[in-house]
Amino acid sequence: MSDEALIVLENVNKYFGPLHVLDDVNLSVARGEVVVVIGPSGSGKSTLCRAINRLEPINSGTITFDGRPLPAEGRALARLRSEVGMVFQSFNLFAHKTILQNVMLGPIKVRKEKSVEVRERAMALLDRVGIGNQAEKYPAQLSGGQQQRVAIARALAMQPKALLFDEPTSALDPEMVGEVLDVMTSLAREGMTMVVVTHEMGFARHAANRVVFMADGQLVEQAPPAEFFANPKSDRAKDFLSKIL
Ligand code: ADP
Ligand code: MG
Repeated sequence: MSDEALIVLENVNKYFGPLHVLDDVNLSVARGEVVVVIGPSGSGKSTLCRAINRLEPINSGTITFDGRPLPAEGRALARLRSEVGMVFQSFNLFAHKTILQNVMLGPIKVRKEKSVEVRERAMALLDRVGIGNQAEKYPAQLSGGQQQRVAIARALAMQPKALLFDEPTSALDPEMVGEVLDVMTSLAREGMTMVVVTHEMGFARHAANRVVFMADGQLVEQAPPAEFFANPKSDRAKDFLSKIL
């Protein structure tokens, strides 16, 4: 991890009608850092992720990525989306395309890369997430854990500078959670910048550089995992941890 900030949110506010979903959020994520975001349902975690790759516009404040304010539209926005990969709870793979085609699509369509080169990279990525031998299958032929690993390979195919994960294991059967977390842990170890919304506290303990606790749209506290779990400072964090641990 370097000292240099890759993602910076300053005084970010976001409303849905009267609902203040991001309440003066300040957060800086360094290059190579792994930040795990936790907090009760409805606290604004998904909105925070979506704001970072501008799936959700904000009402005030600034977000910069790699030294530049988030672009609002056009090619600059498309480039931002390719630089900030996102992995969702629902894998969102294209059902009528093979696993390999799913991984190759972004680089070819969005980045206009040559199919031969993309294919090689896509195969290497599928091997890396442990599904190289399933490349010609269709999503429905794979388990949920395998599909989520394909979704991670697809995000990596764009050679992103950061990856956002929004509850990537919440839709999985329990026996498949580990295989996805293992892939995420190895990415973290290899230096990928990651913002991860998850309820998997084991992952937070072992892979995160920092845990951020959100409640009611506010970033209530943040600390390295060992410190946060041993000594949460706010009543809200203590209450949250008492319910999930
Ligand atoms: P979390 O991911 O922590 O569960 P979200 O960011 O999804 O929280 O939502 C924060 C709050 O914003 C919740 O109260 C949710 O109901 C509300 N919300 C989220 N998306 C929308 C939307 N598109 N329109 C209106 N309200 C929304
Ligand atoms: Mg959410």
